[in-house]
Amino acid sequence: MKRRVKLIGVVALVSFTALSIFSWGQYSGESGKSISIVEEAQAQPKGKMPKDNVIDGELFPEGYTPMEIKNGVYPRDYYPNTEKLGPNEMRVIALGTGMPNVITGNQKASGWYVELGNGEKFMFDLGSGTMENLAKLRPDWSKVDKVFASHLHSDHVGGFAELYIGGWMNGRYTPLHFYGPSGAEPRLGTKAFVENQVKSWAWDVEGRRTGFPIEGGKVIAHEFDFRNEGVIYEKNGVKISSFPTIHILDGPVGFRLDWKGRSFVFGGDSYPNKWFMKFAKGADLVVHECFFSPETLGKLLGAPPAQAIYITSYIHTPPDAFGKIMSALKPRHAIGYHFWTWHDVYSDTWDAVRQTYDGPLTLADDMTVWNVTDEQIVVREAIVTEDVAPTGTTHAYKTAEREPPSVAVDWISPDINAGKWEGYTPPPLPKPGK
Ligand SMILES: [Zn+2]
Ligand SMILES: [Zn+2]
Repeated sequence: MKRRVKLIGVVALVSFTALSIFSWGQYSGESGKSISIVEEAQAQPKGKMPKDNVIDGELFPEGYTPMEIKNGVYPRDYYPNTEKLGPNEMRVIALGTGMPNVITGNQKASGWYVELGNGEKFMFDLGSGTMENLAKLRPDWSKVDKVFASHLHSDHVGGFAELYIGGWMNGRYTPLHFYGPSGAEPRLGTKAFVENQVKSWAWDVEGRRTGFPIEGGKVIAHEFDFRNEGVIYEKNGVKISSFPTIHILDGPVGFRLDWKGRSFVFGGDSYPNKWFMKFAKGADLVVHECFFSPETLGKLLGAPPAQAIYITSYIHTPPDAFGKIMSALKPRHAIGYHFWTWHDVYSDTWDAVRQTYDGPLTLADDMTVWNVTDEQIVVREAIVTEDVAPTGTTHAYKTAEREPPSVAVDWISPDINAGKWEGYTPPPLPKPGK
């Protein structure tokens, strides 16, 4: 079900900027000296910039050239950055399929990465740990700038800081756009979530102001009414609609993406609901939660029967109900997730779904990949390394506007700076332009 290999000899070409971003940490309290240190650290060596490995507008890791798929025959496994998407093709990768309480090497929480043949990337949910799996794909981070959050549970948005800060460090030089629903009150909505997240990372962001592009450090919250039933995003032929779902509190939603005849529906967390049945009609890939059965939850967590039934069957969707939904919808391909893919749980879940649904099905684990074309839907697993290197950044990232060195003048107080151990002398920084 799952394969992991270590790729040996993957050499990342890490730019000067990327190397120097981890914190300047060298400021003297004397303003003149600290400015010059930052200027020197920011200096770009002239005439030594490597050429960006940009293919069809997308940055690929150095040494990779994506190839076209010939005659619809795909390699058995998916190696990231080696395949070119067709003009009408959609690739979806499950970055996380698990639960909020145990985030492991094998299973992160909810995250779905959608790539289109026009080069655009969309994240649906950003659950805890999803950044780790996203990084293994070594994407062009400047493209990973749109997140659609189904609701504000940590297993669906707990990876916010990792993409906000990590994506910015890795190559995003434009703002991160974060789409999500309102709540019953403003404090329970997406706008408040984003504002509070950004506020809580003030210390982190403050120290990166001179090192990273100004615009990449911004997050724009796009909050829409959770009762909305229709389009919330429309650009470059991509249309994304939202619809309400029924889950614990007012606020949760699902999404449908349409582009060039391709469609992806993501139901978020929910009790079976009429809006999902309406919006998922006729879609290619239909993702809905497929939670534990009451018996499995009782067995796994020791929950008393009433609690197990309430959790699995009133605020979530258990496997038999998932099967009923898909039997009524008949999608091109049904995808269930949101349970632990341990062998015993997996086979029980599969058997329970098959009692009520016999169509095309994946019960997803992390790094499952679906390629969707007019002719076929191919299901594979991604082969990735745990020792992942950054993709690298572009010339546009390296030269995007940063805050001037003068903002860093007082970052470290003179008395703290005076505590530097005399037993170490750092190498001198080259002068700007050298
Ligand atoms: Zn959930
Ligand atoms: Zn939830």
